[in-house]
Amino acid sequence: MAPARFQCLSGCAGAWPLTQAIYRCPTCDGLLDVVHDLDALHSTRPDSWKAIFDARYKRTIWPFGSGVWGKKEWVSPQIPDDAIVSLDEGGTNLFWAERLGRELGMPELWVKLCGNSHTGSFKDLGMTVLVSTVRWAMRDHGLKVRAIACASTGDTSASLAAYGATAGIPVIVLLPRGKVSTAQLVQPIANGALVLALDTDFDGCMKVVQQLASEGIVYLANSMNALRLEGQKTVAIEIVQQFDWQVPDWVILPSGNLGNASALYKGFSMLKELGITHKLPRLVVAQAERANPMVRAVREGATTVTPMKAEPTLATAIQIGAPVSAPRAMRALQAMNGVAIDATEDELADAAARADLTGMYCDPHTGVALAALFKLRANDTIKATDRVVVVSTASGLKFTEFKVGYHERALTGVDSRRANDTVNLPPDFGQVVDAIQKRFPG
Ligand SMILES: *Cc1c(COP(=O)(O)O)cnc(C)c1O
Ligand SMILES: [Zn+2]
Repeated sequence: MAPARFQCLSGCAGAWPLTQAIYRCPTCDGLLDVVHDLDALHSTRPDSWKAIFDARYKRTIWPFGSGVWGKKEWVSPQIPDDAIVSLDEGGTNLFWAERLGRELGMPELWVKLCGNSHTGSFKDLGMTVLVSTVRWAMRDHGLKVRAIACASTGDTSASLAAYGATAGIPVIVLLPRGKVSTAQLVQPIANGALVLALDTDFDGCMKVVQQLASEGIVYLANSMNALRLEGQKTVAIEIVQQFDWQVPDWVILPSGNLGNASALYKGFSMLKELGITHKLPRLVVAQAERANPMVRAVREGATTVTPMKAEPTLATAIQIGAPVSAPRAMRALQAMNGVAIDATEDELADAAARADLTGMYCDPHTGVALAALFKLRANDTIKATDRVVVVSTASGLKFTEFKVGYHERALTGVDSRRANDTVNLPPDFGQVVDAIQKRFPG
């Protein structure tokens, strides 16, 4: 088997080992992609792959119980098992949204709860591959780095800090000051990272970290680094596996930097290429209206994404105006017969609150994806009988300010129609009975 390697996404000549610190094509300065030896992977039959993946799923044989490393041959075949830094990522709940689906007349509505993970977001799936590769490169291939660094809207830094601390590799995170939630900010602090809060937005932090990386001061952990997408693509494989190897009709994804959209496309494509499935699902790229460069590009019929200034949104993790993976995601959208759609602040907050009332606990990004679902169902783009997977990218527990703000009617631009007021009472039996009677007339 030829080793997995980096190659230019646009097809320039050259290939580089995964253990090399390289983030862009030296010829065209474009994105890189991890390329696998598909001929070698083809020598295992589709039924054998299914059996191998099913036998490992959520078991305890290191490192294969992880949702990412259970697919190791498709992710990073050559890395030694003892270099892997894993926190048992993946294997997350594919929640059957039975009650919400019933409200919508949709019997096949599912929510992939990627936030049920070590640091509470899907970023762990990519970070395990990136930090493992750095450990492998430092140990066996002479890579010298002072620290791994990222710019982040919150979840990437939380994940990087945890995996770095697990491996004992120093971490630096650059955050836009005042624009990430308290829970997200405290995660890298607790894990001992150097936390640099810069007076700018995400795109501003990204510029600084790219310069640090290009001058060799740090190893770059942003999703421009194609290693992350190799881990994130396993969500696609895992969703299909959880449906007993059937492909859903739609996957709805809240998107910012557009790395995950590209990763899911890669996962679904590999399944098809290797004969395990026979179609791709349709992709919905869901963005906040206040940071919607992909939606604008599609609306204008453009094939490239023009950067914009992202306005503040409750969906802080996708407040990105200049998405790094836009060229990759444009391919994904075309190949998956995709749709790009946005949600206002009110729509995303209302969608999250509505889903919460059926037992979920949605972060604002999942709110964006659910709002996209409601709109695409209302205009019949998504049919009632379609099997739909909404990707929930983070845990609602990381977004307490958002939840509290909604129910206290304190979010600007949001009409908290479903706010649930706490009833404050003296410890008086009669008044408690009155309050029960008022809410649930017997
Ligand atoms: C990072 C992130 C996203 C966006 O993913 P991209 O790959 O940047 O498009 C969405 N939701 C949450 C919670 C995230 O942390
Ligand atoms: Zn190139």
